[in-house]
Amino acid sequence: MRSLGVALAAIVLALPATAARAPVVVLDPGHDLRANPATEPIGPGSTTRKIKDGGGTSGVVSGLAEAELNLRVALRLRVLLERAGVRVVMTRTKTAGTSIGNVARARIANRASAALFLRIHADGASDSGVRGTHTLHPSLRRGWTDDIYVASTRAARIIQGEVVRALAFPDRGLQERSDFTGFNWSDAPVVLAELGFMTNPTEDRLLATEAYQHRAALGLCRGALRFLGRPKASCG
Ligand SMILES: [Zn+2]
Repeated sequence: MRSLGVALAAIVLALPATAARAPVVVLDPGHDLRANPATEPIGPGSTTRKIKDGGGTSGVVSGLAEAELNLRVALRLRVLLERAGVRVVMTRTKTAGTSIGNVARARIANRASAALFLRIHADGASDSGVRGTHTLHPSLRRGWTDDIYVASTRAARIIQGEVVRALAFPDRGLQERSDFTGFNWSDAPVVLAELGFMTNPTEDRLLATEAYQHRAALGLCRGALRFLGRPKASCG
């Protein structure tokens, strides 16, 4: 048995370190081409149900759909993370269909044994003056989020800081949510970054540019890498 152990150790050591240890980050660009009015339980075993996807917001000046902005940032972020040696799984790679809903999104992260489930959104408000970046994370609920609460909160703090630094929009801080289906079903540390407000003309104009989509991806990459204990300089 000893020789078998030595042989196995030799095989493991022979594997490239990045392949053996590369963490998985699941990127979830919010929404899709069409909303999904069907409902789903807000957590495992819950009788409280919420709509699968209300469809998101859109740019007050640019006319850009939030789903498309989220995807553009996520596709850029995928490139940055893969270059940094992180494995990336996407919940979608085009804006083309009916939203799969939040239980399905969380299940993709769970199946991938994600080290981080990173959800990318932009916000909307009835008051066009409302602006800034905020990051949402799960609140503590025994049986649902107790296993991911601390790590998710830490991820949210780090990612919020890096996105604010990258975009230089006002810092609206963190928000704990108990009612997010995609949080309550997640077995992976999870955050939802609201990059800015597409209903604010200034932030909409900027977020519609490739330069700001790149900045957003860079901020998210730095935050994700720091959370994973890797040097954020690897984001480029
Ligand atoms: Zn959204």
